[in-house]
Amino acid sequence: KLCVLGSINVDHVIRVPYFPKAGETLTGYDYQIAFGGKGANQAVAAARLGANVQFIGAIGQDQIGHTMCSAFAQDGIDITAIEEIPNQSTGLAMIQVADSGENSIVISAGANGDLSPELVEKHQAIIAQADMLLMQLESPIEAVTLAAKLAKQAKTKVVLNPAPAQPLSQSLLSLVDMITPNETEAEILTGVKVVDEQTAALAADKFHQVGIETVLITLGAKGVYVSEKGNGQIIAGFRVQAVDTTAAGDTFNGGLVTALLEGKTLSESIRFAHAAAAISVTRMGAQTAIPMRKEVEDFLAL
Ligand code: ADP
Repeated sequence: KLCVLGSINVDHVIRVPYFPKAGETLTGYDYQIAFGGKGANQAVAAARLGANVQFIGAIGQDQIGHTMCSAFAQDGIDITAIEEIPNQSTGLAMIQVADSGENSIVISAGANGDLSPELVEKHQAIIAQADMLLMQLESPIEAVTLAAKLAKQAKTKVVLNPAPAQPLSQSLLSLVDMITPNETEAEILTGVKVVDEQTAALAADKFHQVGIETVLITLGAKGVYVSEKGNGQIIAGFRVQAVDTTAAGDTFNGGLVTALLEGKTLSESIRFAHAAAAISVTRMGAQTAIPMRKEVEDFLAL
């Protein structure tokens, strides 16, 4: 059983010819509303890929929050621990995508900011009963830290995807069993700029030094650097025609924990996660791009 604790956001995406300057009004195009939030994306990925998922999260008192919860339930996620916060709105992201391909994002935490240690405590039985707890950093750090402590006490494995990047305390890092930063996040957490296998090994060692057993540094199209207790290697991903890498990391994390929970080895689980993430980058959007298990199995059987 998997417990995901994390954020739920509605993404408002609009394409722009260029980013507007201060005071400028610009006409954009192709406006779309998409379901996102790293916690939600990873929960959806795990559920579509075959895991039994319980989600601890928060929405506001609004229609969009309810609509997203119904979608999670449709994907088979247990939504009983998603709290509705009174007088609050659901988290949202305003995303501008320029014709150059660059994006510019403003986030309102909304209800995600109210996922407090008290709410974590309220749902501690879910954490204790899970085999694994998967978290990110779009939720209050005190809540993430408490959840990690409760998991540790109950021998639930703690997997942390440290995104978006921010420096973390030694005390939180020491509770983590497996960490899955991308190159940028690894650099912010270790001070080591990851550019190749050697620097990835250096960064991984920094994580091992604070007591993290398994380190996976995702390298985009290049795959992942994986290190278990200091034995490291790069495992390449799959070559595909990428159209939108949004939620690639989220799909990777969801796929990874799903396969590990099924008892697959770490390298088998990475292959499964690479396949799921590779499919997701061939499609537009966040949750809309996340594949079902059957698609991943077909992809791997090719
Ligand atoms: P994030 O989205 O968190 O920055 P990465 O860019 O490192 O994470 O990508 C995470 C995973 O997604 C990679 O390890 C790989 O499996 C897959 N992936 C990302 N970009 C590509 C790509 N262009 N082609 C194939 N797989 C990709």
